[in-house]
Amino acid sequence: MFEPGVMFWAERDNLQRVRSLGVRYGQLGIPGGMPLTDAAAAQWKTALTSAGLTLVTVFAAYEGEDYADMPAVARTVGFVPPETRAARVERTLEVSDFAALLGVSSIACHIGFVPEDAGHPDYAAVRDMVRRVCDHAARHGQNFALETGQEPAGVLLGFIRDVDRANLRINFDPANLILYGTGEPIAALKTLAPLVISVHCKDGDWPAPGIPGALGVERPLGKGSVGIARFVETLRELGFGGPLNVERETDNQDERFGDLAEGVQLLRTLAQA
Ligand code: MG
Repeated sequence: MFEPGVMFWAERDNLQRVRSLGVRYGQLGIPGGMPLTDAAAAQWKTALTSAGLTLVTVFAAYEGEDYADMPAVARTVGFVPPETRAARVERTLEVSDFAALLGVSSIACHIGFVPEDAGHPDYAAVRDMVRRVCDHAARHGQNFALETGQEPAGVLLGFIRDVDRANLRINFDPANLILYGTGEPIAALKTLAPLVISVHCKDGDWPAPGIPGALGVERPLGKGSVGIARFVETLRELGFGGPLNVERETDNQDERFGDLAEGVQLLRTLAQA
């Protein structure tokens, strides 16, 4: 299973096109507005089986999220914005139920910028939401994985200890630590390794200096500042079993699938090295 997989999205990506990348594993992103009926789950289950794709994670995203720059992320992403908390926690529980119908044992999302100050009211509110999702997921035998990078590894680790739930894990995305300027990804991986249950293989460059609030720029795998060969080597040293899920979030679908295909090839070479 130490082999490439792909992060792909319902309502955006054609399943045959995903399968044409030559992968057997994937992570399915669920857009915030997608109806999560039992019938939809049954259709997905059939389609995934016939495509020969096994999901390792179902990702939740939420309506109204904006990743344009850091202030937009702080204002709109995940569990942090107070006005959408109630709706988003309910949506996450629905995603957990949907994943259970697909037979997937891990759900994940970006929860937003966890406040560095554990005494901040937002910190306690987000902690309690994560506990609620964990407890619901546990009843399905699922882990709940937090995506890395929007805060330094140490802050994330402290938060996870405070949540104090055995099924709370990490989906490690090395590029996010660079894009958000929160830390060197290989060091962060070593810090968080015992909690890492899944990974994104994504690349990117650091934010340009002198532009407050700017994010770094995502790059095709192997063309950014992550050092993807070292990332894969470190995963292997840490005993991570895979899969290695290539993620590319650029708007143009032809460019995106071209980059995903090259990323899969690169990982195939590195995984066999
Ligand atoms: Mg990611």
